[in-house]
Amino acid sequence: MNVLEHMERYGFEQLSVYTDPGAGLRAFIAIHDTTLGPALGGCRVWAHRTEDEALMDVLRLGRAMTYKSAAAGLPLGGGKALIMADPNTQKTEALFRSFGRFVDSLGGRYITTEDVGTTTPDLVWISYETRHVTGLPEAMGGSGDSSQITGFGVFQGMRACAQEVWNTDSLEGRTVAIQGFGKVATFLSQHLLEAGAKLVVTDIYPEKLMAARQLDGVKVVSPEEIYDVPCDIFSPCALGGVLHKDTIPRLRGQIVCGGANNQLLTEEDGERLQRRSILYAPDFIVNAGGVISISCEIGAKYSEAAAKQKTAAIFDTMQRVIATAKRQEITTAKAADRLAEERIASVRKAKRVFLGHHS
Ligand code: NAD
Repeated sequence: MNVLEHMERYGFEQLSVYTDPGAGLRAFIAIHDTTLGPALGGCRVWAHRTEDEALMDVLRLGRAMTYKSAAAGLPLGGGKALIMADPNTQKTEALFRSFGRFVDSLGGRYITTEDVGTTTPDLVWISYETRHVTGLPEAMGGSGDSSQITGFGVFQGMRACAQEVWNTDSLEGRTVAIQGFGKVATFLSQHLLEAGAKLVVTDIYPEKLMAARQLDGVKVVSPEEIYDVPCDIFSPCALGGVLHKDTIPRLRGQIVCGGANNQLLTEEDGERLQRRSILYAPDFIVNAGGVISISCEIGAKYSEAAAKQKTAAIFDTMQRVIATAKRQEITTAKAADRLAEERIASVRKAKRVFLGHHS
């Protein structure tokens, strides 16, 4: 890939490449935009087949973090790290401490946290070398696993969508079809069941489905069936790219709202949903609970209550996105992008005054 051209076109600031053969480290850190604050984004550990594939992944994910934090009103920019390694066999203390030292060398321009392939103990190893790491265990003053608050945030987004479509934020009696019954979906389900919703869920792992079967009001279907089940809301909570020309025509609900990142396969799929009069809750708007919670760890003592209060505002953000989409006659996906882009542009215009010399 033509890296510099790609970075210029999509507004990236920096791409760093690291190797440390003694520790088995081969890594990239992409810093997309730091207009609003330091770039925050998880460290993914994944054995991509090629360097190009890994590069595309880290750049795409880093840029998405800029949009997520900007739309959530956080004083954070966007970035991401990627360690090219097998998360099941190649993770060691040396690997993460080596990575931590490179994170530290960026002087706080990039703050790392958990992502696919990393777990809290890995973050603890990183913390031995740098303070620019968040999502640490609660015992270390951190916010711990973010999927609980992410599930809460998705629930708030769903309520805002319900208000728009059914003129009530209540989800009582509504059927929600959930794709993927992992961590986020499990916490989301608790809120939905408490609110009186009925659930149809699927997963590719039988043990996840066994957990779902234990819950009252939950029906289980096969992964392929989930797009066709009669429902009011379709909730993608597995992987990205699931909304496209083949799946959108099959959807039966009036709302799509879930925790997965990058749900639309292409930009055109936002229009496809709109043409079918399905209200799409942009993924980075409703799944921002994790990053909102983590932001409460930076420069302050973490408070779960404060994190929850800030995450509850996803309801208002989703309402703003819907109002903008209607006013400007654009898709909700486009409206969410504009919300983020306008905030960054307005802060960029502010005069950077000289702050004097500090010792
Ligand atoms: P997870 O791994 O616990 O859950 C994902 C589940 O989806 C797994 O149980 C997996 O078996 C299942 N799955 C995968 N492919 C599937 C398919 N084709 N059909 C049905 N099920 C399938 O992960 P999670 O932390 O719950 O995250 C879920 C999604 O939300 C991911 O896309 C993640 O990037 C995104 N997200 C998570 C957080 C967070 O705080 N954990 C924050 C923001 C976004």
